[in-house]
Amino acid sequence: MFSDELSKVSWEETTRKIETKTAEDVRRALGKEHLDLEDFMALVSPAAAPFLEQMARLSQKYTMERFGKTVQMFIPLYLTNSCTNSCVYCGFHISNPMKRTILTEEETENEYKAIRRLGPFENILLVTGENPKLAGVEYIRRAIVKAREYFSNVKIEVMPLSAEDYKLLADNGMNGVICFQETYNRARYNVYHPRGMKSNFEWRVNGFDRMGMAGVHTIGMGVLVGLEDWRTDMTMMAMHLRYLQKHYWKTKYSVNFPRMRASENGGFQPNVIMSDKELAQLTFAFRIFDHDVDISYSTREPANIRDHMCALGVTTMSAESHTEPGGYYSYPQTLEQFHVSDDRKTAEVAAAIKRAGREPVWKDWDEVLN
Ligand code: SF4
Repeated sequence: MFSDELSKVSWEETTRKIETKTAEDVRRALGKEHLDLEDFMALVSPAAAPFLEQMARLSQKYTMERFGKTVQMFIPLYLTNSCTNSCVYCGFHISNPMKRTILTEEETENEYKAIRRLGPFENILLVTGENPKLAGVEYIRRAIVKAREYFSNVKIEVMPLSAEDYKLLADNGMNGVICFQETYNRARYNVYHPRGMKSNFEWRVNGFDRMGMAGVHTIGMGVLVGLEDWRTDMTMMAMHLRYLQKHYWKTKYSVNFPRMRASENGGFQPNVIMSDKELAQLTFAFRIFDHDVDISYSTREPANIRDHMCALGVTTMSAESHTEPGGYYSYPQTLEQFHVSDDRKTAEVAAAIKRAGREPVWKDWDEVLN
């Protein structure tokens, strides 16, 4: 399990290693075809900042080679905002006295229909809060089965599950799972996740092994930027990616690193601010480190950044997202999980991607290819 590997690595020592990387280390990394973790650390280090243009060119080259001129489009649907966890940065945390919604099957289907009216989306991400009693595996399974009547690719972002449950959902039409570890800083993890099942670091971080064991087709990993030192967190995620690729080599992987925005719960202020240039550096670093990994930007990022980065390394983007349950049709005015930055219509996002010389792709995978 990955938690065993992680326990051998010191957070502080990793931070120190990154901080002491030199321009020579960066040059060496940029000259290699197959990079190791030391190279990744060099590329996310402060020493790499002057190499941004060179990194952008390399990232663009690898992206073109592996993905062509395509950007995969997806849309999230929040099914619930009912949650038993206490993440201090999230408006859905259990202590927030807000109205809770769990979409009924009829409401869910209305959302699917409303999304189909927004654009030719074939990739949908079903998101829930973590409340296994009220919206557990059977609830998610039914939502997936119904979703497959409208969409060819269905991913989920829900509480970590057992390998058996991941397998069950995959057998019912689920194509992928996204899970945010949020931070790999074991010592600080419970500062942000003090109660509820999300406070169990090992259960969460080993969830990716369980996805791999269950044969999930696509695994999405994520760190929330704003909690801990992003350079160290991303190095740990890169290490996790390599570990998973080695053990579950048939699986496809994606990485997500959204920058935190103020939530609705009175405002958790991010501990760490990542600048636009640093976001670009990190994106290029991941592409140069792993030419095949899917890099996803959500609508948390502003339009100008997304328009620019879709030609330089990003391969998946969402559009016209709502982060409140039923936000497309049933309950458009309820509390959202976080504000989106890019609130353009789907057609506007698609047009901007085309202006950047890329082609928005709504469907690139079918059951028959599995
Ligand atoms: S981040 Fe997820 S698990 Fe945490 S409180 Fe919000 S909805 Fe619940």
